[in-house]
Amino acid sequence: MPPKNIKTARDLVYWEYAKLIAGSAVGNRKNYGFIMHTFERLKEQKIHPSAILKENKKLVEESNKCAYCGMEGDLHWEHIIPKSKGGDDTIDNMVQACPKCNLTKSDKDLYEWYGKEKQYDIPRLPLGKYLKIVYDAFEKKGTLDSEEMSNEGKLDVFHFSSVFE
Ligand SMILES: [Zn+2]
Repeated sequence: MPPKNIKTARDLVYWEYAKLIAGSAVGNRKNYGFIMHTFERLKEQKIHPSAILKENKKLVEESNKCAYCGMEGDLHWEHIIPKSKGGDDTIDNMVQACPKCNLTKSDKDLYEWYGKEKQYDIPRLPLGKYLKIVYDAFEKKGTLDSEEMSNEGKLDVFHFSSVFE
């Protein structure tokens, strides 16, 4: 669970990014000390996600593998935020996925698909892109820094997708 000082969508997106950064920097997405430090740094500088990760570049490098399971071969473009749930038809919202992942993910949100137990297993590429889209959507709605969402402690990653409704 995120710490108590996460009150806004911006905080939560940064917290999730901090986990991703911990994963690549120290090989552990649960290194709390490192995550906390990175989170504070992102917050201080109000960094835009596009400056955090260069996911489109990474996408090109990994273009012959399923973004979720790493399988090679028969790949299809998959919408990270399903079109039926308000996702865009742009490259920012797409990764290549194998038929099995495509089918099992279906029209689920990323966190919903992986679930609470496996949320740390969501691969960096789709999760990085997902967080960027979520950040932009909250920004567009003007609720990126709104504390209203944290009422009753309801702000967690499983509520991200509500921004597209
Ligand atoms: Zn796959």
